[in-house]
Amino acid sequence: MKSTAPANASAIASHVAPHYASGYTSEAGGAVSILFVDQSGQLGGAEFSLLPLAVTWAARREVLLLSDGPFRTRLEALGVPVRLACETRVSEIRKETVQVNWLMALPGIVRQIRSIAKHAESFDILFLNTQKALVLGALGKPLHRKRIVWHLHDIMSGEHFGPLQRWIVKWLTRFAVDHVVANSHASAASLVALTGCKPESVPVVHNGVDLDEFSHMGDLDTGALRRRLGLPEHVYLAGLFGRLAPWKGQHIALEALARLPDLHLVLVGSALFGEQAYVESLRQQAARLGVEDRLTFAGFRDDMPAWMKAVDVILHTSTEPEPFGRVIIEGMAAGRPVIAASAGGVTEIVRHRKNGWLVAPGKVEALAEAIETLQAAPELAQRIADQALIDVGQYFSVEAYLEQMKRTIGKVVV
Ligand code: UDP
Repeated sequence: MKSTAPANASAIASHVAPHYASGYTSEAGGAVSILFVDQSGQLGGAEFSLLPLAVTWAARREVLLLSDGPFRTRLEALGVPVRLACETRVSEIRKETVQVNWLMALPGIVRQIRSIAKHAESFDILFLNTQKALVLGALGKPLHRKRIVWHLHDIMSGEHFGPLQRWIVKWLTRFAVDHVVANSHASAASLVALTGCKPESVPVVHNGVDLDEFSHMGDLDTGALRRRLGLPEHVYLAGLFGRLAPWKGQHIALEALARLPDLHLVLVGSALFGEQAYVESLRQQAARLGVEDRLTFAGFRDDMPAWMKAVDVILHTSTEPEPFGRVIIEGMAAGRPVIAASAGGVTEIVRHRKNGWLVAPGKVEALAEAIETLQAAPELAQRIADQALIDVGQYFSVEAYLEQMKRTIGKVVV
């Protein structure tokens, strides 16, 4: 596996700005200790939102990871104590194969439930950051008897999850979880629909980004940046950022690329959860469409601000409702116009033609038209990007995110 650890200390520091890495105290007295649990060793949106919280939590905290990977390296480099409780068979359970693999994974599941419960003993709160963490942490409640906070990063609809998983989540939420905090109103509404719980029992805290990290790129102009990153220089360049997976819709962007002969496209991200067949299908699609010479596969990158600043327009092409979409607020913070698929949490971020551009999910023609429009009207694109930057500062800063998370977690222990 390719290492994604930051190459040097400044790259590490850039992911958690020093100005909020100290002095963070919990509202409930500053001494509330937390065990954070996350199933993934990989760096996805849920992990990037846990990172600043774990780094800045002033009282005792630890992160228990159910898989090893670059997320551990990143946490440790930032001084967060990490423990591993890996079980290969449990890690291999994917949401789409949940019924097939559960039985074989049962011994590992029991070990992980016990392991989480044992580690939780010396903490006040168990903070579950992902679906598997929820299931394993909540099932162990009779053993650890700790208060459970679940950070919901998913839309709990039938489009994203199978009936068994939805059923498990429904009952665990009702009987074992003390507090839920959702990453968007779309995620919250899906949980309310699934469980019948009161909307006010699922507070929403939107993700936040470090504006300084994304807006300051030193003195490099776009040309120099593209040369440094090995990107084509004198072309109109679109960027699509995020893991390669069918529902992230990279194939839609390739279709749009085929319709716009002057456009170049860079895909930044890799298949984090074994979607190799999809990556292969993208390469075949590019060859079939004859767009290979205008397409760059950049792989997973640590320096997202640089890659985002190097493009003219940022695309978001998810074909299913996105629970939140960190890449969108990052793109806005990088001062680039973002064209996004209008569903789920995205509509809580993007205001069409004001701070971004919305297109119907999966609609190639609409996406191609939106790109053409922004390319043809650079003043409009700039106006949108300027407003986006203002809106991120106002509504999606990491400081606001941490403040609201702190307040929400603080309520758990009063
Ligand atoms: N990301 C990254 N390098 C990459 C691709 C993605 O650091 O090459 C980060 C991206 O900056 C964002 C996160 O991965 O912070 C993806 O979060 P998002 O909510 O957009 O999608 P998710 O993967 O959680 O579905």
